[in-house]
Amino acid sequence: MQFDTILSLFEYFRWRIDLNLHEYQAKFRFAEFGIPIPRGKVAHSADEAVEIAQELGLPVVVKAQVFTGGRGKAGGVKLAKTMDEVKEHASNIIGMDIKEHTVHKVLIDPGANIKSEIYLGITNDRAARKPLIMCSAEGGMDIEEVNRTMPEKIIRVHVDPLLGLRGYQVTQLASGIDLPRNHWKQFSKIVQALYECYIGSDATLTEINPLAIIEEDGEEMLRALDGKMSIDENALYRHPKLADERDTSADPEEEIIAREADLSYVSLDGQIGCMVNGAGLAMATMDLTGIFGEEYGIGPANFLDIGGGAEADKVATALRIILAEPEVKAILINIFGGITRCDDVARGILQALDEVGTDLPMVVRLVGTNQEEGREIMEAANLPNLQTARSLYEAAQKAVEVVRKAMN
Ligand code: GDP
Ligand code: MN
Repeated sequence: MQFDTILSLFEYFRWRIDLNLHEYQAKFRFAEFGIPIPRGKVAHSADEAVEIAQELGLPVVVKAQVFTGGRGKAGGVKLAKTMDEVKEHASNIIGMDIKEHTVHKVLIDPGANIKSEIYLGITNDRAARKPLIMCSAEGGMDIEEVNRTMPEKIIRVHVDPLLGLRGYQVTQLASGIDLPRNHWKQFSKIVQALYECYIGSDATLTEINPLAIIEEDGEEMLRALDGKMSIDENALYRHPKLADERDTSADPEEEIIAREADLSYVSLDGQIGCMVNGAGLAMATMDLTGIFGEEYGIGPANFLDIGGGAEADKVATALRIILAEPEVKAILINIFGGITRCDDVARGILQALDEVGTDLPMVVRLVGTNQEEGREIMEAANLPNLQTARSLYEAAQKAVEVVRKAMN
């Protein structure tokens, strides 16, 4: 496994540990902060979509609620001018797959008469250690696309978290995108509100794309037609309402169990189930099994960080999660005992094996405080399918070896 595989896994993992909101959840939250949104509702069936459209009046937009962008291009956002069209679009979109995400519900929004589309987003700039506001007159399309083709069209403003967003910074954004003067007052309120929402929600992303200039009853105004929001999962305990509304329907079963047990888990395609403490050590373990297994098509079956300590019940839950994956042919346990001692970890593993039980070959490497005692306990258990290893190299090689045997 190469360096960029690890990096992309890391990106993927970050995406997984943030709580992502659906468009409607993000927009309803924006509205609580005073951002103008269309007064739409969510439907789970075509009939329900028609009922909502009757309430709102025509035209309406039917919008797929899935955790991916570019829904418009994929046919997941459709304008309906008649009730028949509402029914047709809703039944087509519900059940459709967009980039491997199945649509279970649609947002029905009143149709807007769009004059132009602005991009407005806030994210964390780790290098600058500050929230970064980005704004562009080239809204509607993917901001990554704008960044690639015309980066000068994106206005960037860093906010000092201690001073907060200042009026002159909003002016920089508004003049930077040549926003007509008559919209400045409303724009300023929206940028302030989006920033408050970002900070107040412990968000890692709040994005409106498009923030549209629309015409209604002969008047022009701004409205957030699309919304995207991710919350830092480490801060989720401060937002029980957001945690409750979490949509887990797209998450694999094992990942949900892992989350509840406070384990970090990502399923991959290999055959070696890895149980490791610490994200860095977990990545190193995956990396080495990938390198030793590469020529045989063998690699890690998962990323799994059981966190600090290695109590028997945690190890047992981790074992169950690993064993639930049918492709797993061997288990590699790599634990660094710091405050938790290796002899305690060894007893924890044996107790967990008592509870969960498996015939799969296992390689155990315990290193750190009381490592000799730990290994003695493992060896004294005399389990025919279990070997110990002294180094990570040895452990990874042994794990690849037993999988090779199992595959022949
Ligand atoms: P995304 O493709 O996943 O980002 O979904 P969006 O919600 O941004 O919708 C995509 C595009 O559909 C927008 O950029 C608009 O051009 C268009 N759109 C969304 N809502 C409306 C609406 O109410 N009226 C009209 N005419 N177009 C809309
Ligand atoms: Mn959009």
